[in-house]
Amino acid sequence: LTGLVLDGSFTKRLKGVRCQAAVSILRGERIVRTEAGEIQFTEDGLSGIPVLGMARSVHEIHSAGENASIQINLFPEWSAAQVSAHLAERFRMPGDVSAGDALVSLIHKRLIPVLLKACGVDAGRNCSNLPGSGLENLVTILTGWRIPVSGTRSWNDAQVTAGGVAVDEIRPQTLESARLSGLFFAGELIDVDGDCGGYNLQWAWSSGRVAGTHAARS
Ligand SMILES: Cc1cc2nc3c(=O)[nH]c(=O)nc-3n(C[C@H](O)[C@H](O)[C@H](O)COP(=O)(O)OP(=O)(O)OC[C@H]3O[C@@H](n4cnc5c(N)ncnc54)[C@H](O)[C@@H]3O)c2cc1C
Repeated sequence: LTGLVLDGSFTKRLKGVRCQAAVSILRGERIVRTEAGEIQFTEDGLSGIPVLGMARSVHEIHSAGENASIQINLFPEWSAAQVSAHLAERFRMPGDVSAGDALVSLIHKRLIPVLLKACGVDAGRNCSNLPGSGLENLVTILTGWRIPVSGTRSWNDAQVTAGGVAVDEIRPQTLESARLSGLFFAGELIDVDGDCGGYNLQWAWSSGRVAGTHAARS
């Protein structure tokens, strides 16, 4: 469980931005996992509970020599048509309102210039005369912002790491080593890891109790 490093020069500008979103990890063009919740931009990429669990997929995709990318939907509760209709309504503002200003209060302020740039819309352009393609691109990016993933944060940053003593080398009833009697394992020492949500602490406590009880009896 660790953050993702994204391939984009915008990351430093977004450091600390938090927002609700649905995020999907893609292997080439195929979505392999989608999670929703609060995401957080970091200096070099993306973190937050829905993102942390994607590190394993990224590792698997990169190990197979394939490209990984992340897709961020900032409006997971809305269809693309609803986002489009909402933007069209917003952009009909009277007066000289720029595209950038028209998005204030809809998405995080620091995301606005980055997203407009990514979809080729001049943030200073009057929102009422954007080309149709500009609006279309904006809807696409708001509902499916695709960013290449270059890797994961380091082992030191990880909340939980995969690997450890293989489960088939441990007696499941006692958590004693099948190879060396009198040696017991618990928690992250064992090749067991779970998603965010307390599963890893639960595993550490439960396995610790089992291993400790049987170690004391042995
Ligand atoms: C920032 C962060 C946030 C997390 N949040 C969550 C969460 O919200 N929910 C969740 O389920 N999990 C979470 N985890 C994961 C969870 O904390 C771990 O999976 C769990 O603590 C593992 O328990 P453990 O007993 O196996 O190892 P540890 O908790 O790492 O305990 C190992 C202990 O051994 C000690 N030790 C190491 N070497 C020696 C030595 N040579 N001699 C004596 N002692 C030694 C260490 O100091 C440490 O106290 C988080 C982890 C991190 C880092």
